[in-house]
Amino acid sequence: MRRKNKRIMVTGGAGFLGSHLCERLLEQNKEVLCIDNFYTGHKQNVIHLMDHPGFELIRHDITFPLYVEIDEIYNLACPASPIQYQRDPVQTTKTNVHGAINMLGLAKRTGAKILQASTSEVYGDPMIHPQPEAYWGNVNPIGLRSCYDEGKRCAETIFFDYHRQHGVPVKVMRIFNTYGPRMHPNDGRVVSNFIVQALQGKKITVFGNGNQTRSFCYVDDLIGGMMRLMNTNDTITGPINIGNPGEFTIRQLAELVLEITGSRSTVEYLPLPQDDPMQRRPDISQAKRLLDWQPTIQLREGLERTVAYFDRLLDDQPTSVPMKSALLVD
Ligand code: NAD
Ligand code: UDP
Ligand code: UDP
Repeated sequence: MRRKNKRIMVTGGAGFLGSHLCERLLEQNKEVLCIDNFYTGHKQNVIHLMDHPGFELIRHDITFPLYVEIDEIYNLACPASPIQYQRDPVQTTKTNVHGAINMLGLAKRTGAKILQASTSEVYGDPMIHPQPEAYWGNVNPIGLRSCYDEGKRCAETIFFDYHRQHGVPVKVMRIFNTYGPRMHPNDGRVVSNFIVQALQGKKITVFGNGNQTRSFCYVDDLIGGMMRLMNTNDTITGPINIGNPGEFTIRQLAELVLEITGSRSTVEYLPLPQDDPMQRRPDISQAKRLLDWQPTIQLREGLERTVAYFDRLLDDQPTSVPMKSALLVD
């Protein structure tokens, strides 16, 4: 029997994107079951939701089976920052592949609709620019990033096989670089690194010559696109790119962060990590056409909001806490 309010499971719900999604679903009077093993997420990210009658948090690793009764699954569990997913690459592949199989098994048994948080990384170091969904990508299968890139690619494969073979309603969303409040200060991704470095007067660490590009989407826009995709009819499976097509070099990002923070930090150039993609920009024509979605918050405004968040956070917690010990503090 279906409940009056949909019961929605968010794996990775205590992470950056997951916590924003839980919040938005509760605002729509959904019941939210948040699943997380706190590998990169924190109870702190959802602490303000704990008293909400529609919210429940379970510590669980999705590489192990899970038996619950739900109507929809947003599968976000997986570290997203290169330094975090490379910390335990075997676990990263297990989360992407075993985790996806378990969540698809759960969807199959319960009849739930399931959305996969895939990534622009499936395009690897792209030879086609901007990247449309039809592009198959250029990915190293044995490099340091492969646990994430190939793990996510295999997850897409198994999603479409459960759809074709078992009729599971699936939605595959390819997320491009997203930033905003509640990224962990030591997460390691470029936007949080640059903002924290600028606010603390430390050197801004640009990898390589800084001419590589990324397209940055503000979290509120991204979550809007994600929920729209979930709420489309079952014929729309994706994959669909969701991101902001505004494209910037990493050096431009550093300059903008310095300008917004008013910091006097200087830039330090460090070696480019292995297989770091040289360019990335989403072709979002499918999202516009099928979801009537496009981002509304441009980089400067999104960065201003994110800087304000980190400013408050670092005031409350002036010394930088390493990711792992921050986890133990929970
Ligand atoms: P995040 O690291 O902040 O969140 C990931 C969450 O998943 C964390 O709370 C972590 O503890 C949890 N988790 C990891 N392994 C788990 C496991 N085995 N079982 C249960 N929970 C587990 O990252 P994010 O930016 O919020 O990313 C969320 C999802 O979106 C990820 O799947 C990521 O690959 C995808 N994505 C994000 C971006 C982005 O720019 N933010 C871009 C592309 C794709
Ligand atoms: N699974 C799960 N929760 C469920 C149903 C299945 O975690 O409610 C797991 C199950 O342990 C299995 C995986 O999902 O390993 C795939 O399930 P499926 O039924 O597709 O495959 P099978 O059990 O036949 O291997
Ligand atoms: N980067 C950088 N300095 C940092 C962190 C990242 O120059 O402190 C670069 C990184 O080499 C990449 C880009 O910024 O070219 C985006 O990196 P991020 O880890 O945020 O995400 P990616 O898109 O590489 O997964």
